[in-house]
Amino acid sequence: MQKSDILSIRKDFPILASKVYGKDLIYFDNAATTQKPVAVIEAISDSYKKINANVHRGVHRLSQLSTEGHEAGRERVRRFINAGKSSEIIFTRGTTESINLVASSFGEAFIAPGDNIVITAMEHHANIVPWQLLSMRKEIEIRVVPLTPSGGMDMEAFKGLLDGKTKLVSVAHVSNVLGTVNPVKEIIAEAHGRGIPVLVDGAQGVPHRKVDVLDLDADFYAFSAHKIYGPTGIGILYGKEKYLNAMPPYQGGGEMIGHVTFQKTTFNELPFKFEAGTPDYIGVIATIAALDYVDAVGLDNIRRHEEELLKYTTEKMNGIPGMKIFGSAPEKGGVISFVAEGTHPYDVGMLLDKQGVAVRTGHLCAQPLMDILGVPGVARVSFGMYNTLEECDAYIAALKKSVEMLRR
Ligand code: PLP
Repeated sequence: MQKSDILSIRKDFPILASKVYGKDLIYFDNAATTQKPVAVIEAISDSYKKINANVHRGVHRLSQLSTEGHEAGRERVRRFINAGKSSEIIFTRGTTESINLVASSFGEAFIAPGDNIVITAMEHHANIVPWQLLSMRKEIEIRVVPLTPSGGMDMEAFKGLLDGKTKLVSVAHVSNVLGTVNPVKEIIAEAHGRGIPVLVDGAQGVPHRKVDVLDLDADFYAFSAHKIYGPTGIGILYGKEKYLNAMPPYQGGGEMIGHVTFQKTTFNELPFKFEAGTPDYIGVIATIAALDYVDAVGLDNIRRHEEELLKYTTEKMNGIPGMKIFGSAPEKGGVISFVAEGTHPYDVGMLLDKQGVAVRTGHLCAQPLMDILGVPGVARVSFGMYNTLEECDAYIAALKKSVEMLRR
């Protein structure tokens, strides 16, 4: 993207004009959540001002409008990830809830005691703990694919872990710590060759690269709107109809019912079977604005731009003595997790903050991976479409200053 494009994009994100401790905000915490363009903010306030009414169960005009908006959101998401049918798009609260839904409901229908599921060593807690909860109920085995030295997934080990008792592979599209882009198409093909379905945790995938669930042949794909410039509180679970139809409801109440008596309840069809209670229809409508915005900029442009920021910043950081960056897979997303020798990541993060730079510190919800890396935590820089090379320069200067101060 041209510099002028990025500067005009920045104008659409009001928060980027903020000052932090009197310094220009440099927002490098995009993997945790992205900032929102005016179009998304206005979609929320306009919806509340003009069409707010509960969806699905109303005959009145406003309820029809909000229902139409909600269902338009489902169709927009379908188109964004190229799913076959909008009924295969389930709205949840986030990636975490999407994975919990699969662990609970697919786990109920398709996984029995003694079976195993396969995850990788780079998973976020959201793709570890739901399976552990399932294993507490059903005594399933959780197999973990080890990493290569560059932080990739060891594909040979992966193949060796699959057997006749493997009922699901659940893997991150992109690691939120290492930035590794996993070869999900190949992973899915390997698993399918053995009749095993695959869930892709796309929380860090969808915001940065074009995802086509049909081309991937993913059985489930989960992501969060707030990481793709959309509102908080909206998650998406794409699932193949054949699985979703065979899975029991996750929660009860609201639109998920067919008919209820005190003795028995029949369930609604997809996608409503999985959407109990009042959905966040305002959030769904605002998600349309986010996806429209991202499509207007173009995911290929976003990916290329973030790759440039990644390469530039990585080179500069590598020039700082005692700098250890975790993750150097050949295909890597715009995430740099690091520890500077002789400093604590938390202190680095605090000093960067005082200079206006927002980074994330800690275990990044990947404690098992931190154990493998041999560190209690890291600091992490993560890029979004609106970040600039000038911000990278300012960050590098702030980082050098912070590290020098802490080493004194
Ligand atoms: N999976 C990955 C790889 C993530 O990076 C995150 C969030 O950082 C999640 C899952 C959880 O997403 P959410 O908190 O939006 O449910």
